Amino acid sequence: MGNLLREKLIAREKSAAYQAAERAMAQDAYPYFRSISSAQDTEVVIDGKKVLMFGSNAYLGLTNHPKVKEAAIKAIDVYGTGCAGSRFLNGTLDIHLELEERLAQYVGKDAALVFSTGFQVNLGVISSLTGRNDYILLDEYNHASIIDGSRLSFSKVLKYRHNDMQDLEQKLSRLPADAIKLIVVDGVFSMEGDIVKLPELVALAERYGGSIMVDDAHGLGVIGEGGAGTASHFGLTDKVDLIMGTFSKSLASLGGFIASDYDTIQYLKHHARSLIFSASMSPSSVASTLAALEIIQSEPERIERLWANTRYATQLLRSAGLELGPTETPIIPVYIRDNDKTFQVTKLLQDNGIFVNPVVAPAVPADSTLIRLSVMATHTFSQIEEAVAKIADAFKSLHINTTAAAYETSITR
Ligand code: PMP
Repeated sequence: MGNLLREKLIAREKSAAYQAAERAMAQDAYPYFRSISSAQDTEVVIDGKKVLMFGSNAYLGLTNHPKVKEAAIKAIDVYGTGCAGSRFLNGTLDIHLELEERLAQYVGKDAALVFSTGFQVNLGVISSLTGRNDYILLDEYNHASIIDGSRLSFSKVLKYRHNDMQDLEQKLSRLPADAIKLIVVDGVFSMEGDIVKLPELVALAERYGGSIMVDDAHGLGVIGEGGAGTASHFGLTDKVDLIMGTFSKSLASLGGFIASDYDTIQYLKHHARSLIFSASMSPSSVASTLAALEIIQSEPERIERLWANTRYATQLLRSAGLELGPTETPIIPVYIRDNDKTFQVTKLLQDNGIFVNPVVAPAVPADSTLIRLSVMATHTFSQIEEAVAKIADAFKSLHINTTAAAYETSITR
């Protein structure tokens, strides 16, 4: 980087996030870009030491599954390592089409389109569906990629308070009848682990002529019939216009998709710029996604196991007096409400062999910082017990107030 640019960047970089990261570095508690030298699994290796992984999005524990890895290796044998072009031109393989067909069936839509990442799905889809005279309505806690997708569009963007249907109604009711009113929501919110109030949202969309897109990054493989996601969970698949998903979580790979009716998918194929102007998903990613989907559909007990683990972890954490908020899913936030202590807990836990993710300002307000645990189907109960005991110890030794009343729960294994 040239000196001038570097100096200007440093002078300007005064954001809360940057300052917090700098303070964490000064305390030797910097928690980002930690280097892992093993597969993403319930146990990983960091600095030559085994650490229990409670910060992975691989909810179904498939990233290191022999069949998924074998499928990726076979695909490299047949198709090579990359597609060297976009889906639009030379980069469409027969397995891209097979994956699209399987995904459409899985989530209950007519057609699907795969992109190279979930982030790119949201960029390309949200920015191309609405025009200058249209509106995009967003839950304030939506994922960054949804916000960035709406920034790229020419439409007016309105944010409503998290899962607050009254606020959404107030905004929707004022919009012109003939405009497209696209409501975009996370199915499962990625920081809090709560689920969108889809039945109320569908009712409002019907009353005011809105359309709905659900980002199911954290719902797919977790909730709904056979893991088909949030719309399926509520029996409202037909009422949701677009379902978005990513392969970087339950599906153990890299890439993303949008599913909808045939015409909308045809439109997106010719308008979504992050699809048209970016190289397509690599063959190994496509094949590993297909293999993971196959396992999810043929081994429903994996999802049952994920839920048994989620219930167990939630009960143990609550009975240790920790404050978890409104989580309903394997994403479990544990509130700390102090930026520096959040970094310190994360560091102390890693030193004691537990990996968790810190969530600090500005991702959340400074008085709502937390560590986020993600439960996997492949965790054992004893791994969960060890993690909870160490979290409780770390909170005690750092004098973190556990404001939640210690729940009296009967813990069932
Ligand atoms: N949406 C949500 C809700 C997410 O959590 C993520 C990933 N963190 C994405 C979209 C982006 O997906 P990907 O990792 O495939 O780019």
